Amino acid sequence: MSNESYRFKIGAIECIAVSDGTFAYAPDAFIANAPVERFEQELRDHNLPTNEVISPYTCLLVNTGKHRLLVDTGAGFAPTNGKLIDNLAAVGVAAADIDTIVLTHGHADHIGGAADSTGAPLFPNARYVMWQSEWEFWNQEHPDLAAMPVDDHLRHLLIDFAHAKLPPIRSQIELIDREGEIVPAVYAIPAPGHTPGHIALLISSGNQQLLHMADTVLHPILMEHPEWRPSFDLMPDQAAATKRQILDRAAVDQALALAFHFPFPGLGRVLPKGDAWQWQPIEMFDQARESRAAGE
Ligand SMILES: [Zn+2]
Repeated sequence: MSNESYRFKIGAIECIAVSDGTFAYAPDAFIANAPVERFEQELRDHNLPTNEVISPYTCLLVNTGKHRLLVDTGAGFAPTNGKLIDNLAAVGVAAADIDTIVLTHGHADHIGGAADSTGAPLFPNARYVMWQSEWEFWNQEHPDLAAMPVDDHLRHLLIDFAHAKLPPIRSQIELIDREGEIVPAVYAIPAPGHTPGHIALLISSGNQQLLHMADTVLHPILMEHPEWRPSFDLMPDQAAATKRQILDRAAVDQALALAFHFPFPGLGRVLPKGDAWQWQPIEMFDQARESRAAGE
């Protein structure tokens, strides 16, 4: 499995998880309402480094046969990200081939690839789809991020990116305000809280489904600690309610799930665990299934 792309199918639909890269966050800036020592202990228990939290940025290419749809456009604010266009080219897809782009929300790591540094749109033939209140929030002159316990540098980065990357796609945007079909087989699900108009997606074909959770959960550890509030959620109570709702749905449906910031390719299943949940990455069961099929 490449670290940059991963192909899989949902029924008749071809999907490719495509990496935009990663970014490293400071552990003491990640969780707003738990002592950093507790988070570091969890990182240690998961055999992860404790000096930084490496967060992958994973976009999703969906080929329905009729449409080539991309979920999110990556970041491009650090040398470790902004690799989406190159990684799409590596799987034979040019930016001009994309006809539909869903922006799950207006954060820099999801909209950064929409335009280049001169303000030229990078996906010239795409219709963009975004939740209406999300578009309106970020296009305000002064989006109010005071409720996010993050440093001013990050606040300014988020606002600067929204103001630089969203206006160039104004003529391409289609705003939605209700749950429903974006293109056949791809459905928008409101999932507010991380941001005002954050959305998840359901991709459905045959008897298979993918629940794209976007930024509903930002780290696998937060499935086991749903009471922990990530510093990047703007409306924490609503985000917590949405998280419970989406994780319950994924667990009950036993759906394949995708989380934008989970270890690449961000695919797995949500297992119930006590009052919380646990993440089972796709490699674990797919490799087991493949080796069983191979008679190993
Ligand atoms: Zn994000």
